[in-house]
Amino acid sequence: MITVDHPLLEVRGLTKSFAGVKALQGVDLSVRAGEVHCVLGQNGAGKSTLIKTLSGAYQPDSGEIFWQGERITIGGPVAALERGIATMYQELDVVDGLTIAENIFLGHEQATGGLLHVASANARTAEILTRLGHGEISPRTEVGSLSAANKQIVSMARALSRDTRLIIMDEPSAVLDSQEVENLFRVVKELTAQGIAVVYISHRLAEIRRIGDRITVIKDGRSTATGLSVTDTSTPELIRLMTGRDVDNVFPAAEPIAADAPVVLSCHELGVRGVFRNVSFEVRAGEVVGLAGLVGSGRSEILEAIYGARRSTSGTVTVNGEALRPGSVAAAVAAGIGLSPEERKSQGLILDEPIFKNVTLSSFGRFARSGFLNERRERQAAREQIEALELRPANPDMVTRTLSGGNQQKILLARWLVHGTAVLLLDEPTRGVDVGARAEIYSLIRRLAEAGTAIIVVSSEIDEVLGLADRVLVISDGDVLTTTNANDIDEPGVLDLVMRGSAA
Ligand code: ADP
Ligand code: MG
Repeated sequence: MITVDHPLLEVRGLTKSFAGVKALQGVDLSVRAGEVHCVLGQNGAGKSTLIKTLSGAYQPDSGEIFWQGERITIGGPVAALERGIATMYQELDVVDGLTIAENIFLGHEQATGGLLHVASANARTAEILTRLGHGEISPRTEVGSLSAANKQIVSMARALSRDTRLIIMDEPSAVLDSQEVENLFRVVKELTAQGIAVVYISHRLAEIRRIGDRITVIKDGRSTATGLSVTDTSTPELIRLMTGRDVDNVFPAAEPIAADAPVVLSCHELGVRGVFRNVSFEVRAGEVVGLAGLVGSGRSEILEAIYGARRSTSGTVTVNGEALRPGSVAAAVAAGIGLSPEERKSQGLILDEPIFKNVTLSSFGRFARSGFLNERRERQAAREQIEALELRPANPDMVTRTLSGGNQQKILLARWLVHGTAVLLLDEPTRGVDVGARAEIYSLIRRLAEAGTAIIVVSSEIDEVLGLADRVLVISDGDVLTTTNANDIDEPGVLDLVMRGSAA
């Protein structure tokens, strides 16, 4: 019998930045063989970045990784697999066009000279699937035809086909229904009983309580606690570790909405089958309404349905008294709805055009005289906005691509200020934005509201929703749990509601 006096995996002081965004700023983690080690953190905390550095997808900027007591670097995904570290990514990396056996054994010892010994690969695959409690699935099934839950099984089977010591699972339950989650838990227990360690990433406390042995909490790229025992740590303590920030005064004070401010946008029993249901609320001119909830709660989908990018299957959206045609972006835009999407880099901005073009985009009418764009006036309008926004560098001719995420977001918001819009839908307005630029974006959003815009904001950072919004809808699994004044609820309160909502 081998006695192991060091952890299987130990991580010290890991850091990783992306173009100015500090995703990891010092993470410690120590994982023992045969345990389920949960990594808990809010969205954007750095969980995925951490596991991508452990699986060799990213190289850390600094910090140390020890594997079975030996200091190592993980050169790439193959190197990680060879060490015995397998990863089930959030975006599952199985190949749809291949069979299960091909997915598992391609690029493996079973393949010689590029040829797969089909019969033996199928037989080995069947064995592993049985071990995972899925003997009913044929190894010859094409992966593209499988459910997300079964794709996860394939991903786990692939891990088991090698001498895997550690399996990292990035929010595996996010795509599963409750029956499938039960099955996943059973498989996790099976794996740990065989001495395999599981690093289980999640933001669902209820789940962690059921499956986890120990917990590491990550907040703003740092481990705020590591190796906590699941049974000895209270829920309020975990919530404090996840969120407990010194709430700085970055949010601009909001004037109370005028009592006679007109209702601009109204959703009545809006729903998209299988995604969210029965969403009713109103937004008045000058009001900011926030949608708070975890990823997968249906927040972004509600915005998409209002914008017509997703067809609602029930209920209505009304702008200034006119009901919109469901599923028509053209109708939404004509009614004065603007969307700042989460993926603003691909959807919102023309990155190779200068700043002034992006600011004035979609207000062409105003700058065109007898059919020609008046560049001088466009530039002048953009320059005024750039000054007001403290955009850096303050040069309207700069190519937009060269700006930071925060400055790109400011340009999008500036466009709405120039353009004027009845309703503005903001999805993750500060995603990928540095703390410094956030306050400026917040005050820009407030200015848009003061100009009479009705605003809906979605963010996975709950304190951001609460800080920006006048009123908040708390959403979990497609249901509105409550609608309240933003002042009447705090972040632990929202999390508590959501955790109870999703644990049910
Ligand atoms: P989590 O998985 O906990 O939600 P992530 O690790 O995905 O968090 O992200 C942590 C932070 O790093 C976020 O602020 C995110 O916007 C940023 N980030 C993650 N990946 C990248 C990337 N490839 N480029 C730029 N920023 C990134
Ligand atoms: Mg993630």
